[in-house]
Amino acid sequence: MYRRAFLKSAALLGASVFLSNENIAGLLASGKLRMLSQHTGIYTEKGGTMAFLITDEGIMVVDAQFPDTAPHFIEQVKEKSSLPFRYLFNTHHHFDHTSGNIAFKGLIKDGVAHKNSIANQLAVAEKQGNVDGILLPNMSFDKEGWSTQAGNSRIQAFYFGPAHTNGDSVIYFEKENLAHVGDLCFNRKHPYIDRSAGASIKGWITVIDKIKTAFPKNTQFVCGHCGEGSDVLIFHPDLTLFEDYLGNVLHYVSQGIQAGKSKEELLHCTQIPGSPLWQGEGIERPITAAFEELSGA
Ligand SMILES: [Zn+2]
Ligand SMILES: [Zn+2]
Repeated sequence: MYRRAFLKSAALLGASVFLSNENIAGLLASGKLRMLSQHTGIYTEKGGTMAFLITDEGIMVVDAQFPDTAPHFIEQVKEKSSLPFRYLFNTHHHFDHTSGNIAFKGLIKDGVAHKNSIANQLAVAEKQGNVDGILLPNMSFDKEGWSTQAGNSRIQAFYFGPAHTNGDSVIYFEKENLAHVGDLCFNRKHPYIDRSAGASIKGWITVIDKIKTAFPKNTQFVCGHCGEGSDVLIFHPDLTLFEDYLGNVLHYVSQGIQAGKSKEELLHCTQIPGSPLWQGEGIERPITAAFEELSGA
């Protein structure tokens, strides 16, 4: 309906004279494709940020958002390259990163994810009775990670241990020095911490340390989510800030527990002491997760 109404009004205004088909497609998709270099870019619309790399062997995609937004990405990236899709990586199982996998059915050759991410995707789909409605990655890796040479680009997947879930990985475009960390960093936004899928705040701090050691100082990172007015593109210092934030969450809650405070009392808090940059909704998520983790609940 929207497309029709738009085309009709565009024609009425005579605007179609000035708009190429490509421009119309771009306007119809409400998301934003942002090129970072000639061959790399990110896509933000709803849910976790997507990233892509165009190589001689085809287009590599990291994460897939939702079934209704992934087609907008596909439409827009096709304007940048006529090559086919090659690999689709999932940084972890959450539906705002993987439910759009289905839009790539028949388009990608292989899907790649950590084995825990695949198990979690399947478990959630079984619980929802939607196993036929998902597209599971067909290739998995474990602690040792995964890598491939695609044209003159090398792509690596790393697993550093439990953090935001038990199946978070970092996808690295080596030559381009661009790493998608999925939800391993919430840039100035209170994170989700999925304890039902094996998350650990202490583990998460260790994982960020490992990421900081594994990647060069000038690596550009893509993260899944950011707070109002912040960016999903970050660098090492932003990872350090988030690592400090997680440490401050644990410190605030463990001090509270030692002082005999209840979870409810700890939730009466509008800012994590020491991390004023983390604003907006959701402060109850890290406090609750930290309370459970520290009290063994
Ligand atoms: Zn997410
Ligand atoms: Zn997530």
